[in-house]
Amino acid sequence: MHVEELVKSLRENSILSREELRQLLSGYGVLEERSPVRDVKMCETLPGARCTKEESFLFENARQVRERSYGKDVYLRGLIEFTNYCRCDCRYCGIRRSNTVAQRYRLSREQILDCCEEGYGLGFRTFVLQGGEDMAYSDGQICELVSSIKSRYGDCAVTLSIGERKRESYRAYFDAGADRYLLRQETSDPAHYRYLHPEQQTIENRKRCLWDLREIGYQVGCGIMTGSPGQTTEHIIEDLLFMKELSPQMIGIGPFIPHKDTPFAREKAGTLQDTLILLAVIRLMMPDVLLPATTALGTIDPLGRERGLLAGANVIMPNLSPAGVRGKYLLYDGKICTGDEAAQCRICLEKRVERTGYRVIMSRGDCAGFVRRQNRE
Ligand code: SAH
Repeated sequence: MHVEELVKSLRENSILSREELRQLLSGYGVLEERSPVRDVKMCETLPGARCTKEESFLFENARQVRERSYGKDVYLRGLIEFTNYCRCDCRYCGIRRSNTVAQRYRLSREQILDCCEEGYGLGFRTFVLQGGEDMAYSDGQICELVSSIKSRYGDCAVTLSIGERKRESYRAYFDAGADRYLLRQETSDPAHYRYLHPEQQTIENRKRCLWDLREIGYQVGCGIMTGSPGQTTEHIIEDLLFMKELSPQMIGIGPFIPHKDTPFAREKAGTLQDTLILLAVIRLMMPDVLLPATTALGTIDPLGRERGLLAGANVIMPNLSPAGVRGKYLLYDGKICTGDEAAQCRICLEKRVERTGYRVIMSRGDCAGFVRRQNRE
């Protein structure tokens, strides 16, 4: 089948067979070396963003599907990177335990609440607390922090992204008021998972965490890096099918970018095109899912996030961390926005979003499907 036929079929049925997914991804040259394309057409909505006719067809379909669920709205999440201490040793990540040259920091409860106060003033209604797996914060402290934020800002959602924990811990954070949890599976293939992580970290536990989070009642986010070392098209197909099965409310997709002080320092970065294609494919597979145009995408291309929005993404996560620590939460080299103040970020993003024809909405921005399900219950 021609790729455009596959796109139509994916759009209609929100699923393709394994073989069709294989044809679709290879038809779009995902993970393949690309020669410069001749038959290029300008993306009409964004000057300077070039893509092929076939890509344009895919992105157009993804936009139509996202607009049916979310109109022109783009949600903002205030990201607070509150610690870069980590007990894990993921081979791709700049804040891995073995990186002895990383400058470590952790924010106090008061500093985190100050970030929320500033963020609330700027209009944010979701706070994402992300960090390494830092055991210096006890479950009790995390719960206290979550409930303090929820009691001050009752109209806000709190998202946690603090890695693999015991089911009871997840339950306690949820009972304290946490609404959402982000935990990328990174890869759904056991051998690839072992290639990206040390032996003690297992795909079984990662997936166990995701299913626990779902069962407890969180709005869950999973995801992968595009072009991570050792990744193949088969792995991506496995990831897409896993996502479909887990059926999360959010999916974080960004390119892998090497960090100089990790074992993957000399590996190639993932590409803009592959990331855009995956965003669009996921949008067609899961019309209601929340899809961020990630900071990593904005790092590999100056228009990366805008192009992400034009390929089906509908969320942006600007940084609310205090300016003094931003340059230290370095998962990969070259990370953007490490020098800005939160207020500057907010204005800059609003302008970037406007240029795509979409508009920033300052609400909690829950997943459309999740809201419908809750209303039925
Ligand atoms: N400790 C938390 C938060 C991790 S940081 C957790 O385990 O979930 C969030 C995401 O950044 C990770 O899930 C990973 O997919 C991504 N990331 C880490 N290193 C990266 C790199 N070198 N390039 C691109 N993305 C990276």
